[in-house]
Amino acid sequence: MRTGAVSAAAFCLAATCSACSGPAPAPAPPPAPYHALLSDPTPCANLTAPTGKQVLDAKVRWLPPNQFDFLENGGSDPTGGTAGSGTYTRPQNFAPLDPQNTQQYTIATDLTTAFNQAPPWFRKSLCELDYVFVDASTSPVEGGTPEGWAFWENPTQAYQAWLADQSTPKPPIAPEQFIAISSSVWPGNPAGDALGRYETGVLQALLGPNNAPYPTVTAAAATGGSTWSLMLLGILSHELGHVYWHSECFHGCNAVQGPGWTDVSGVPSLHTFNILSTTAVPGTNYSVTDVKNDWTSNGSHPLNSKLYDLYTRGVFPSLFGLVAPDEDMAETTKLLVLYKSGLSSLKVMFPGGTHIDMISILTATPAPYLLGKINHIRGSRQFGD
Ligand SMILES: [Zn+2]
Repeated sequence: MRTGAVSAAAFCLAATCSACSGPAPAPAPPPAPYHALLSDPTPCANLTAPTGKQVLDAKVRWLPPNQFDFLENGGSDPTGGTAGSGTYTRPQNFAPLDPQNTQQYTIATDLTTAFNQAPPWFRKSLCELDYVFVDASTSPVEGGTPEGWAFWENPTQAYQAWLADQSTPKPPIAPEQFIAISSSVWPGNPAGDALGRYETGVLQALLGPNNAPYPTVTAAAATGGSTWSLMLLGILSHELGHVYWHSECFHGCNAVQGPGWTDVSGVPSLHTFNILSTTAVPGTNYSVTDVKNDWTSNGSHPLNSKLYDLYTRGVFPSLFGLVAPDEDMAETTKLLVLYKSGLSSLKVMFPGGTHIDMISILTATPAPYLLGKINHIRGSRQFGD
């Protein structure tokens, strides 16, 4: 979990038809067929508001199984070994999604729909990556196929990649950044509340086994959207948040080092992400383990739990955000993207019936601390509304 849509068009068409009182309307034209590009002519990062199709064509690539080992390539993931050790190999043998392949056609269609549900600045941010992979690996050496991962090369890795493939004229070689969503997300079940099911799974996994009764999560999308699209956006935006974290807080950055550490005029800044302090941050002074242990002992009184406290404070976007500073930024980025993509409610349902809606928390007056983190991301990435 460096780590996270069948089309809503069918629902919209059905609703439109049921509202008609006159003659039956002509059937809608079939959707335009998806055509994969054989080359990558679209400099979509130069566009202010690339379309979902432009993002798909320019950036999304099918990565066959075992063509990149994001954990063990001396990679940028700190759990994967020393950065730059060994011989780095960039992802190999990837290609645009194949419209003749049923699964890849579905993925292309779903991702395009999801991209178009998101704001233009999110699509542009995807365009600023080198690739958005659909990773078809099923090998457990890739972290047991998490739903997504992010990778950012360091200069040594970029140089090793150039040595292996000297098709570019000469150094310096720009380190590449890319994220991936697992093909194992498909076939998911796009019906009903796909995002709620996904978030429920993440939350319950963090609380650990044999900890029932568990909270659940329900999500709702604004009219015209779907929670399947939101789930796909959630997986991708979480991974994008890891890239943001790295961009601001270079490899190995933690709470006491890194260029992003400086607070700016009291405005919540990078250093506010996941600092466990009751004074510097009006939040919690407990860890995920504390929350989990408390839930184990206190599950029958959920409203007295640290978990309930965590979600009511409006400091963290989720329990996952409490895991580590980069996960806090990843989850905060996700909440920002989903909110701006039409997430109308995201309710953590506690046993007994009480719920906390993170959208209500986010939009409350006075503004929650969490909004400062969101504004940090928006400001540092120059996002629009
Ligand atoms: Zn993550």
